[in-house]
Amino acid sequence: MSVLAARKCERHPAREAVARCPSCQDHFCRECVVEHAGQLLCADCLARQAAGKKTESRARWRRLGRMSRLVAAVFLLWIVFYGFGQFLKTIPTTVHEGTVWRPGD
Ligand SMILES: [Zn+2]
Ligand SMILES: [Zn+2]
Repeated sequence: MSVLAARKCERHPAREAVARCPSCQDHFCRECVVEHAGQLLCADCLARQAAGKKTESRARWRRLGRMSRLVAAVFLLWIVFYGFGQFLKTIPTTVHEGTVWRPGD
């Protein structure tokens, strides 16, 4: 605390800094920092972080959601067709050979 007390706020040279912003590493007074997710960020970094994260993650999630739905649909179709193909491939030969339905004697 003694180190911080000797520091002055980046914005208010007359005020003593009470916290250091973990993002820009500058010192700020109580008025200049905002608590965010357990951290004391300066107003600038908080605004930048909030703005950047919101738009970025929202766009990413939208893209990811669309892509995962497409992948899921393709995968499901593939499973269905593959399973159906396997089913068709096994049925005719055994049925035509008459090995399936013949009771073992
Ligand atoms: Zn900052
Ligand atoms: Zn300040």
